[in-house]
Amino acid sequence: LSLVEMEKNGNRIMVFVRVRPIGKKEKETGSRCCVKIVNRRDVYLTEFASPEDYLRLKRIRGGHFTFDACFPDSATQQEVYSISTSELVEAVLQGKNGSVFCYGATGAGKTYTMLGTMESPGVMVLAIKDLFSKIRTRSCDGTHVVHLSYLEVYNETVRDLISPGRPLVLREDKQGIVAAGLTQYQAYSTDEVMALLQQGNRNRTTEPTRANETSSRSHAVLQVVVEYRVRDAAMNIVHRVGKLSLIDLAGSERALATDQRTLRSLEGANINRSLLALSSCINALVEGKKHIPYRNSKLTQLLKDSLGGTCNTVMIANISPSNLSFGETQNTLHWADRAK
Ligand code: ADP
Ligand code: MG
Repeated sequence: LSLVEMEKNGNRIMVFVRVRPIGKKEKETGSRCCVKIVNRRDVYLTEFASPEDYLRLKRIRGGHFTFDACFPDSATQQEVYSISTSELVEAVLQGKNGSVFCYGATGAGKTYTMLGTMESPGVMVLAIKDLFSKIRTRSCDGTHVVHLSYLEVYNETVRDLISPGRPLVLREDKQGIVAAGLTQYQAYSTDEVMALLQQGNRNRTTEPTRANETSSRSHAVLQVVVEYRVRDAAMNIVHRVGKLSLIDLAGSERALATDQRTLRSLEGANINRSLLALSSCINALVEGKKHIPYRNSKLTQLLKDSLGGTCNTVMIANISPSNLSFGETQNTLHWADRAK
């Protein structure tokens, strides 16, 4: 996969799709691949799990979608990072905000894409690594300070993942909406960051019904703030601040299920308010609406200054290639298609 030519079209949301490799369990149960990527931009759903899925597919979209780029299961973490996110890191150094989301059903590869493993670090780690190396090459003039925070939104409660404790309250101050008391970790190198994030991920809330599994309802939000100070020719201090938000979203399966049923089922206990609110904000942004409903959830309040406007926004839709996940894959692609 080489660099993809992407037309830059104002501040629209860039939407990518990543297919993960078929899992061992999936192979053993005889599941087959139902996803095909063509021309690095097109994705086709090719094989049907059931007659119902087939009818639904015909009704909705014909099973063909086009995105800014589609990553096949052979794409490396570095390729995904370079094509989707590296430009945002450059923009943050220029004092711009940006955000990158991983969206998809539980098991589709969101956490792998965002956090990754020690051997194959994901977008969060590669972005920070790239940020430090860029800062190193230009620090001869001025100083850069990098602060990290890592929090989770679970059931509309905000918690610090670096030093977990009581829920945090969101407050509005000069810089916008902040989580009061959230640890701002000053980072100096990439090495410590991976360990920090892995520790943070272990602090994510697990659902009682799914022992040992990170909750499919928790959103993990890493925010990287870069401050730059330098004296210009007239000896005035130039001060620039950019913020990059990297978000491992909750599993989309429940939100989608409720999305498609009647409004009454929204009263059920298991809707993810933040995920639905994010969808509403993105749709409003894409449609060019004036009012963006940021206030509807904790997640959208937190990301208010990093979504829309002149910010760069990237969505990575993660999907499984297995026909066992056909319905979820189709829902994810359909959702991602509307975010374009
Ligand atoms: P999610 O966070 O969306 O629930 P995970 O990231 O935990 O899903 O992925 C589910 C499983 O698939 C994990 O075991 C993960 O390591 C593996 N996996 C996901 N994407 C990839 C990939 N691109 N390459 C290799 N393994 C992957
Ligand atoms: Mg996960």
